[in-house]
Order: sequence, then structure tokens, then C-alpha cells
Amino acid sequence: MNVTELARRMRMNTHTLLEILPEFGFDIGKKAIKVDDRVAQKIMRQSRRIKESLEKRKKVEADKQKQLEKEMRQERGESVSIPDVITVRDFADRLGLPVTAVITELMKNGILANLNQNIDRDTATVLAEDLGFTVATDEGEDESGESTEVVDALETALESQNKDKMQSRPPVVVVMGHVDHGKTRLLDSVRETNVIDTESGGITQHIGAYQVSKQDQLMTFIDTPGHEAFTVMRSRGARIADIAILVVAADDGVMPQTVEAINIIQAAKLPMIVAINKIDKPEANVEKVKTELSQRNIVPEEWGGKVPMVSISAKDGTNIPDLLDTILLVAEMETENIKAVPGRAAVGTVIESHVDKGEGPVATILVQAGTLNRGDALVVNNQIYGTVRAMRDYTGADVSAAEPSTPVKILGFKSAPQVGDILDVSQRKSATKVKKTRGSGAKPPVTQQAAAAENEDDGKKKVLNIVIRADVLGSLEAITNSIEKFQHEEVAVKVVSKGLGNITETDVDKAQGSGAQIFAFHVQVPATAKELAGTKEVKVKKFEVIYALLEYIEDELQKLLPSEKIVTEHGTAQVLAIFRTDKSGMTVGCKITSGKFVKGAKIRVTRGEYQEGIGVAESLQIGTSKESEVHEGTEFGMRFDGKTKVHVDDILEAYTEEIKERKIAFKHLADK
Ligand code: GDP
Repeated sequence: MNVTELARRMRMNTHTLLEILPEFGFDIGKKAIKVDDRVAQKIMRQSRRIKESLEKRKKVEADKQKQLEKEMRQERGESVSIPDVITVRDFADRLGLPVTAVITELMKNGILANLNQNIDRDTATVLAEDLGFTVATDEGEDESGESTEVVDALETALESQNKDKMQSRPPVVVVMGHVDHGKTRLLDSVRETNVIDTESGGITQHIGAYQVSKQDQLMTFIDTPGHEAFTVMRSRGARIADIAILVVAADDGVMPQTVEAINIIQAAKLPMIVAINKIDKPEANVEKVKTELSQRNIVPEEWGGKVPMVSISAKDGTNIPDLLDTILLVAEMETENIKAVPGRAAVGTVIESHVDKGEGPVATILVQAGTLNRGDALVVNNQIYGTVRAMRDYTGADVSAAEPSTPVKILGFKSAPQVGDILDVSQRKSATKVKKTRGSGAKPPVTQQAAAAENEDDGKKKVLNIVIRADVLGSLEAITNSIEKFQHEEVAVKVVSKGLGNITETDVDKAQGSGAQIFAFHVQVPATAKELAGTKEVKVKKFEVIYALLEYIEDELQKLLPSEKIVTEHGTAQVLAIFRTDKSGMTVGCKITSGKFVKGAKIRVTRGEYQEGIGVAESLQIGTSKESEVHEGTEFGMRFDGKTKVHVDDILEAYTEEIKERKIAFKHLADK
């Protein structure tokens, strides 16, 4: 058989085939033209192995090439700056790479995005660094995306602690992972089984965080599951939590938000523990999860890696004690970082904030250093928000002092602070007082309730209400950030609810309650939700691209914007004679009493005090000559089109109407 024929049958390049054959023990020579038929058969039987080997080779070469490029970039110190949100195209431009290459890299990270889609800074950063770029931050912001000012405030406050007086404090744990993988269930399970017995019988309040005890050691859990935990984490990075638990469902494996969580945890340089959940399910496959994680360099300890992994069932409580022990172990290794000075003026972060109907503004502070006492000044962002009137722990019990790592709900705020704001009691002397009124210099709090209250003055505007769901937080943030830029005097967009994951029936109820439309971005609309939306007449729109979503909003706002009608009055005339009447109108003789008549103008017919109807001046004529205009004092003939029957002595008024569509053009869309 000819070698070319053999290569053709194996769907390979002849040269490549000849190159690789010796590796498989076929020494037919690199320049062979013919090959013995029996040998050819043998070679063909090895076809799969040969191809696999080639694939592997190609991959190694590509990796080598990539590594080389990476090293060259590092050597040259190539750097790139990344804003909060950037389109894939712009990002590729900044990197000086083809868009397709960037899209492929994103895919490797589990993110499907096209060139017009936005990605968030964290994702872009991970990608850029993977490629060997140094990430410079855009002005005024550090890597985690928060303003340098705020970071500095917390860092300075924490660093001003006397190292000699530092004592260990409970580790602060945050739970992250893909929607529905069991974060809430895990937090509930931990809470139910391990909360310290209290007078209130162990019934805990949701204040944003709680504490549990194991082996007489305390741990603090941030109790905001779902994307809010992401947001808190994202906004304040490592500064809130000491340890992250990544929940991955054993029946589902690594999903987009898992990847997102990994990126955030790694960017924040947090020690990570993986909780492989739902092992009670028959379809659970723990090994598969471990393999998927290993492919992302999250290698379990038992495979020689660094990441502790615990298989649990949040539902049955299986291995929850093991998970807590693991947290304590990791905390022990991190003791140097999990310390603070108690007793001094308190520093902490706002982890929850809202305006309560009965109690007014309430916020939960996670004390990070010092001790917060009743009566202390509430100094947030260098403004005095009031004094600590009362403090309650997560059991609802009144406390008079809160030490490092303790979450406390605080009464005494005159205005609700923003989640992520820093409390620094030591700044009370230099701080200014915040006014009680809304919009008093403090940014509005991010909780939904409060946000709704802040939007009251939209009452005058026509508002497009929307409920948004997206697959990953990066997209959700990119969308809400862009929506915030829709600023107009008469129309507004209001996000009444947002979240990650598929559309739920609750979303439909919410949308109906507020007359909102539902936007599904890269998420599904399950049949039940679709049906409910149908019966409740709630509009559900699915989008694949952020830009399309924004354009749709622009269109909808355009529809809300009332168009302007400009009426121009031309003049009046009196009817002197009726010459002719037919089906579509009449021919009449008139005299202008004021102003002028214009051909094509609309005509109001008035008889005595009553308006009889309207018509159109189809043509104007003086004598036998057709005119486009006739002026005051002139007698003229007019073809009047309309249903109204005109009588002698009626008063006719000529006017024109111009409908002016006012075009909305939002700058941030036009810029694209
Ligand atoms: P989250 O979105 O990550 O907070 O997920 P949830 O805690 O709300 O859990 C999503 C769904 O999975 C709920 O129906 C839970 O009851 C269920 N779930 C959570 N943990 C387990 C588990 O260990 N086993 C089983 N079978 N179901 C679980």
C-alpha cells in the first residue's frame, strides 16, 4: 500500500505519520513511499493510540508556546489596566490579542461570552495574569475594585493595632458556590447543630452572621448566602473573611458560579476548604468533582494538593462536624493572620443594613478589631451616624460589648449605612455629623428595602420596572452597572429584584406585584415559571448579550416617553357659501377673518359655542387659481375633507399639528 493512501485512510498528514511511526515500533523509514499491506493493517489498528499521542504532542507544544509568550510578557513587564466592567472586545484590544483567543481563554475558565459581552474585572484579571500580564488598576481603585480610600481606612485602622497586644480571635468564614449547591442549607445545618445554647433556646436571628462553637472554639459564619455573599466578599475582599468554604454539589459538579467563586477566593488570597455537598444523593460523584476541581488547580490534599475537601450532606448533617474541625485546623495554620487587639476603639465592617419599619435604620457590624461598646460613636466614612443605642447578638440577646470577630446588630444609626462601609470609632473627633435626612452625603444602603425607599422621588417619572436573573454575578453586576447609567428626567429603570440562577415562580409573583418585566440573562425559564408568567401576563425576555438587553431597555424607555404634540394656529375664516357636498367632504366659500389658511391644515368647525368637528383643507382657491396660502380679508374657495357638515356662518379655524418623537439616546449605548 502507498504510504499516502495509508495516511488518507487514517485521516492524517503523510509527513506527520512517518514522523511518529517509529515511536510505535514501525521502522519503515522517514522517506518510505510504500508499506507492506500486513504492516499497514497493524498500523491502522493502532490508529487511535497514534492520534491520541499526536493530540497530546500538539497540546504540549501549544502549552510550551503559551508559556513562552507568558514569560516574554512577564520579562517585558507588559501591563494592562482593567476597569470594573469591560467588553470582551475591548479587553482583547487592551491585551493586544485576537478576540477569538480571549474567547477561548474565557471558555477554558468556564465562561461563555461573545465579543460584545461584558466581563467583570475579577474574571479579566485572572485571565490577564494567566497570560503573563501585570494588572495595573484603574485610577483610584485597587485590585478588588473598591476605592482605595475605603481600603486605606480599614487597613490603616487595622494596622494601627499594637502588634504586642494582639490576641487570637474566632475565624470568620464565608460560604460560596454555585446557586442551589446548598450554601443556605449548609449554613442552616451548621447553625442548627452547633449554635451555643442560649436563653432564647437557640433560635437564631438572621443578622448577617452568626457564631458557633466546636471544641470550645468559636467560629463566625457570614450568613449571606447566594450572590449577596459574593457581593460582600467582592466589595471588601479578604478583609471580612479569613476562610472561604466553596460548596460544590456532588451531583452537579463545577458550574459557572463555582468558577466565579474560585476566582474571587483566589483574588482575595483566602484559604479555601471545599465542601462537596449532597453526597446523600444516589447520583453524587465525589471523585468527578475532585477531578474537575483539580483541572482548575484546586487539588485535594489526599491527591497531594493543598486544599482540604470534606464530603458532606447538608441535608442529613453528614460530616458537618468534620467540616467544622477542618475549619479549626485551617484557622490554626493561619493563627498569625487571625488576630486582633481587643479593648481599644472598635473597627469593623457593615455587613447588613436596612431601614426597619419599627426600629428605623439598623445595621450589623462585624467587629474586626477593638471592642464596640454601648454608647460608642458610630463613625462611618468619617461621619458620625449616631451612637450605639443598643446591640444585639445573633440570638437576639442584648449585649453591652462586642469583641473582634463578633457580629452585632446595632440600633442607633440616624441613617442606614451602606453594606461594606467601615466603622472606625477612633475617628470620632475628626468626623462630621451626618444629617438625618435621606441623601445626606452617605451613599444609599444596598439592601433592597432601603433601595426601594430611596427611589421614592422616581414617583414623578415613568418607570420601567424589571426583575433580572443572570447566570453569574459578573454579568449581573455588569448589567446593573450599565442600567444605573440610564439617567433621564422623565423616565427611569428600576430593578425591583435581581438574582442568580433560573427564573422562579417567586420572580413572576414579584414582577406581577410591581408591574415589572422579567429579564433572563443566560438562564432558563422553567416550564412552571413560564406558565405562571403566561397566566399572570408577565412579560419574560431572554437575552444572550448585555448590549441587546440594554438596547431593549432603551426601546422600552422610548415607549414610555410621551411624545410632544406641537400645535400651530394659523387663522380663522367664516363660511359664506356651500358650493357642493359629496361623500368625502364639501366645497365651501369663505372669508379669512384673521391670520391665514394653509393648504393641508387641519380645520376645526365651530358653530355658535359648539365645536362641530374637524376636517382638512384639501385645497385652496382664489377665483380659478389654486393657492397654497390665503391671507386675512381674502375670499376664497376651499375643498374641505371630513365627515362634519359645514354650514353657512360656521367659524373655521386652521391649524397644523406636529408630533415630535423625542428620541432617547443614552450616551453609554451610543459610545459603543
Ligand atoms: P444555595 O442556592 O446554594 O443556597 O442552595 P440551597 O441551600 O438553597 O439548596 C438548594 C436545594 O438543594 C434545596 O432544595 C436544598 O434542600 C437542596 N440541598 C441542599 N443540600 C442538600 C444535600 O446535602 N442533599 C440533598 N439531597 N439536597 C440538598
